[in-house]
Amino acid sequence: MNQHRVLFVASEVTPLIKVGGLADVVGALPDALAPLGVEARICIPRYGALSSAAMGGTKNVLSTTIPWKGRSIDISLLEGRLPNSHVTVYYMDAPEMFLAGGVYYEHDTEHGTRLAMERFVFFSWAVAHCIPQLPWQPDVVHCHDWHAAAVPAMLTVLGEQRHTVLTIHNIEGQGKWNAAEALQWLGLPTSTHATLQPRDLQGNLNILQLGICTASVVNTVSPTYAQELLTPQYGQGLEGDLARRPGGVRGIVNGIDTALFNPETDTQLPARYAQDTVAAGKLINKRSVLAECSLTTGSGPLFVVVGRLTQQKGVDLLPGIIPDIMHHDGRLIILGSGVPDIEQAITSAIAPYPTFCRAFVKFDAALASRLYGAADFFLMPSRFEPCGLGQLLAMRYGALPIVRDTGGLHDTVRDIRRHKDGTGFVFTEPTTEALRAALQDALRVFNQHDTMTAARQRAMRYDCSWSRSASTYVTLYSHA
Ligand code: ADP
Repeated sequence: MNQHRVLFVASEVTPLIKVGGLADVVGALPDALAPLGVEARICIPRYGALSSAAMGGTKNVLSTTIPWKGRSIDISLLEGRLPNSHVTVYYMDAPEMFLAGGVYYEHDTEHGTRLAMERFVFFSWAVAHCIPQLPWQPDVVHCHDWHAAAVPAMLTVLGEQRHTVLTIHNIEGQGKWNAAEALQWLGLPTSTHATLQPRDLQGNLNILQLGICTASVVNTVSPTYAQELLTPQYGQGLEGDLARRPGGVRGIVNGIDTALFNPETDTQLPARYAQDTVAAGKLINKRSVLAECSLTTGSGPLFVVVGRLTQQKGVDLLPGIIPDIMHHDGRLIILGSGVPDIEQAITSAIAPYPTFCRAFVKFDAALASRLYGAADFFLMPSRFEPCGLGQLLAMRYGALPIVRDTGGLHDTVRDIRRHKDGTGFVFTEPTTEALRAALQDALRVFNQHDTMTAARQRAMRYDCSWSRSASTYVTLYSHA
């Protein structure tokens, strides 16, 4: 007998459509909640980038119209299954709003920002209209990031009293727009709805702020990030709204799908391996991936980066350590995409070292798996990191993370130099010098074969499954 029915509202979900870690969380948490008596279903937009083949068979469970910019837009909810799972997915089908432009558009232009804002304000508005009409009624609506953060307020505006949870996966994305204009899209007067009153420091309607002020419960994805968010340095203007939350902001560390990400069964790996075969397995995978990347083999370690190439991820610190890696006959492979200027800077920085370093500017989940399976060390020098999945995946595959001491990286990686049960290297200052010092110690550990193997095995033993955090979410739903 299920105790709770929870509807996830989100912009991405693995394996259907993924831009970053948010998709992995939305794709994995429902399965982890099922044994705990929670039936979670997921609602996402039906993007043009979502192929019918990926969606599989669907049936139309609801057709309705949504008021928008003074007219009505027809929408349907298509019900399907998340691939390789029993989880139900509702695809919101509204071609006019979701077919063009990928998932998020380019948010560094005003035009892209406007399109993204219209897309997700509409999505939240339409979700709020659909919820009361759904044949399956959720007890809790669980909204993920700003793309769904307007849902609690919109439910209130429509007279629906619902229990809601807002999870902040990254406070950088807030969804800001001129309030009068945004409310016009909805056909709502600015003055009548107290629920829609909050304005950010620039006087804009700020969708994430709206969610923080209206959701029954607000949480984020690690305890350290939950504390950091209350400071001006990390709170990005919303620290005051977060501090005023009556129940505070809880931090719950993400897990990963340990069945999907498993070096013993991952078909991407030339050599699959367990803890007792990690050293030999990695050697084979490393040779294979170096050949794939047209890099020469060397006696030193393979350093890998997989992640978005943005200011947040601190990838600008990487060019400074290339000489250190080369000096120890190491190799560096970077896989990522993001801000065009940063992509360009990385590509140019490694161009002079074609036999030592390689950068792929693209999204490629299969290559990412091969890199985790081959890597000795995983570099993640983030300026801020709400939780981070890269370091968890790295540990799962026995690659030792080298991370900055922030957010979820602080909560999940213990430093080998200070803790017997350490699984990585943690540095504090966001500088190349601090990263270099950690790297030098990592190189020393790499040269002590037994120490390195023991560290890899400890990393692989780290519990990065969803089991503990899923039960904390159940408690959160009870509070909501
Ligand atoms: P964020 O959510 O901030 O992007 P996370 O570390 O939480 O960062 O999650 C990133 C996820 O996306 C990981 O699963 C990582 O392996 C994956 N990923 C990021 N960039 C790429 C890429 N270019 N190709 C394949 N997978 C990627």
